[in-house]
Amino acid sequence: MCGIVGVVGHPEASNLSYLGLYALQHRGQESAGIVSTDGDRLFKIRKKTLVVDAFTNDSFKFLKGSSAIGHVRYSTTGQNALKNVQPMIATGGFGNVAVAHNGNITNFRDLKQIMEDQGALFQSTADTEIILHLLAREPVSDLKDKISQTMAKLDGAFSLLFLTPNEMIAVRDPWGFRPLSLGRLENGGFAVASETCAFDLIGARFERDIEPGEILVIAHNGTLKSTRINRKASEAKCVFEHVYFSRPDSFVFGKSVYQSRKELGFQLAKEHPIKPDIVIPVPDSGVISAMGYAEAMNVPMQMGLIRNHYVGRTFIEPKQSIRGFGVKVKLNPVKSILEGKKVVIVDDSIVRGTTSQKIVKMVRDTGAKEIALLITSPPFLSPCVYGIDTPSKEELLASQFNVEQMREKIKADYLGFLSVEGMYKTLNFERSLFCDACFSGTYPTSVDLNSL
Ligand code: AMP
Repeated sequence: MCGIVGVVGHPEASNLSYLGLYALQHRGQESAGIVSTDGDRLFKIRKKTLVVDAFTNDSFKFLKGSSAIGHVRYSTTGQNALKNVQPMIATGGFGNVAVAHNGNITNFRDLKQIMEDQGALFQSTADTEIILHLLAREPVSDLKDKISQTMAKLDGAFSLLFLTPNEMIAVRDPWGFRPLSLGRLENGGFAVASETCAFDLIGARFERDIEPGEILVIAHNGTLKSTRINRKASEAKCVFEHVYFSRPDSFVFGKSVYQSRKELGFQLAKEHPIKPDIVIPVPDSGVISAMGYAEAMNVPMQMGLIRNHYVGRTFIEPKQSIRGFGVKVKLNPVKSILEGKKVVIVDDSIVRGTTSQKIVKMVRDTGAKEIALLITSPPFLSPCVYGIDTPSKEELLASQFNVEQMREKIKADYLGFLSVEGMYKTLNFERSLFCDACFSGTYPTSVDLNSL
């Protein structure tokens, strides 16, 4: 769970990267970093905090130059430590290069072991560092060729941005797990970002997606050169980006995420046509789908759960005195609209099941008469190994229990999920081009769950 952004050919490149990261904050809240270049040196600032706190006006005086890349991180490999914060910088035969990575490299441990056996020293525990080691070892001089040969050795998810004093290089793995898009700035420069919502904030126009397996070299003078790596892999774009992860105002894999969420709500109405008194979303993730469900069923949608938007990670919790405190801090039910009602609650997914359990109890305590919980995705059966943070299989509720047992645990009167087929049909996505390992347990690359 990370977000990356790059800007080429703008006098305020680092400031625009900062704004881009600000729009991508939902993709990672543990750390933020920017590396810029003035065509000679690389400048970096990396902090273990939110984007808004990581940079000041002085940061942009220090982050000189007209090209920059940035990163927001949520650790899925390696701990949340400063040594793992990105972009990472390395100096080798190829000069200075910085890299920002979104995704998870699934053969990282094997590759690292081989290199350590050969005497390599690693400075971090993040999978991204392996990329820099592989680059250094490739016996070709051109960085693009080094990247191409390195990509052939990596399995899993990697949307990458490289920055050198001469160029920025945008890369997407051959499966295309994570999104990465190219945009054009008003002054003619280029922007690359994990999601198009970053372009909206910096006044960039969406041009196209970086293609799966593509290596796009954007020289600091503005020339583009695209190549594709020669590796056979069937596309496996992450369907969960549309279900949960991406922002609804983004355009991901050629489709509006907002539209997808609305359609998932329509499909939910087809598969679970309950006629409640009111439909309420779990904010924010369930809001748009709940609108779709309510519209399709012709029943009112109400904001029956109010979210506190100022919940940080660092509040002090009471030790035992207030039960269910965690979820109440974030969400609070509106008794006056729920009391005595037959309620449908819409959320995007059940992972461990702890949130749903608490929400159903909270709504029940208001005096709601009947509670159906509808989920806009299929049961979450298997951990994601490609960069979405999920617990181990044993902790995933759907991997341990069937739907009726889950309903009992969650204490809802009805529990309904979308079917895998219904999800693809309504999204109009060709299933063979997507990864749904979380819902099917079928991984598009060879994966040993025990070694992760
Ligand atoms: P749980 O309590 O573990 O079942 O969490 C389910 C809730 O977490 C849902 O409301 C989702 O919107 C949200 N969610 C889904 N996937 C993730 C994830 N990878 N990280 C954090 N939250 C998630």
